[in-house]
Order: sequence, then structure tokens, then C-alpha cells
Amino acid sequence: MTSLVRRRLLAAAAALPVMPAFAQSRPLTCGELTAAQTEGPFFKTRTPLRASLAEAGSKAPRLVVSGQVLSAQCRPVANALLDFWHADEDGEYDNSGFRYRGHQFADAEGRYRLVTNFPAEYPGRARHIHVKVQAPGKRVLTTQLYFRDEPGNRRDGLYRPDLEMRMPARIDEKRASEGFFDFVVEV
Ligand code: FE
Repeated sequence: MTSLVRRRLLAAAAALPVMPAFAQSRPLTCGELTAAQTEGPFFKTRTPLRASLAEAGSKAPRLVVSGQVLSAQCRPVANALLDFWHADEDGEYDNSGFRYRGHQFADAEGRYRLVTNFPAEYPGRARHIHVKVQAPGKRVLTTQLYFRDEPGNRRDGLYRPDLEMRMPARIDEKRASEGFFDFVVEV
């Protein structure tokens, strides 16, 4: 390669837009805001600050959900608030206490990580996790996350494929698993 060609190539590379590192390794999920969904009848305020909702005595396997909170411009939302709640292994919500309820704040890169136990389905609903996500001082997004390959998804009118977590495999209720989801919120 002549030095002139090399200089031109370097100049061309420098002119390319700088993509965030995460955009190179997985599909770009920002751009459109994450769809909102009903909060349902079981939301409670004043949840504990904790990233792990896991219960030592639960028969349900461990579930880790992680991802990033992003703006529609694909920028990480540092310190975004995420408030999660979901049913227990019997499909029940804790309405007197705070089992399977908790909030956390995303880190400086907008990353969050929830540790919990698999929620069970309950009558009329596909398996899901409720969440409220809010960029600091901005509007609250209320939505729900769904699970891959669940037969209940097709029967649930609230289910949306774009709210399904990326999961490495169909879930096996006896084994720990991971889900990935990036939220896109108003900033
Ligand atoms: Fe629910």
C-alpha cells in the first residue's frame, strides 16, 4: 500500500460516524421509545432500593435480567431509575409487603442488572415482569417484559414481541436463566 492510499483510507475511516461500542455487537435497539403498557392492579410505591429480589426459599430458579437504559439517540441514560415488580412462583403478588419488588439506579453507562426468581404465570396473563423506568427528572415509562417461547404469549392480548427479552434459550423452569433488554426512554 502506498502511503497516499493509506492516508486516504485513514481519512475515510476517520469520517465514519463513531458508533457506541454496544451497537457493534448486537442489534441497535434504540431509536424508537420502548412501548408503554398498563401498570396493572399490583403496583406499589416506596419499594426497597435493591438490585436483587431473589428469595432464598423460592422453588423458582434464579433469573438475571440485564441491559441498558438508552435515549432515542442511543445515548446511555446514567442513573436512570428502574422499579421492578412481578408475581412469585405461585403467580401471586405480595400486596402486604415487598417480596419481588424493588428499585435500582442504572450506572454511569445506563446499565442495570436485576437478580430475581422466575415469576409464574397467573390466570389470563403470560409470564411477565412489570417495570417503571425513568431518566432523571423525566417522564416515567411503565411497561412489562415478556419471556421467549412462552405458549402463554400468544394467548395474552397485552404481549408484544418488541417487549420480549432476548434469552439464550427457551426457558426451563428448573434452571437458572438470563434475559437481556434495553429500554429506550424520553430524556
Ligand atoms: Fe402482572
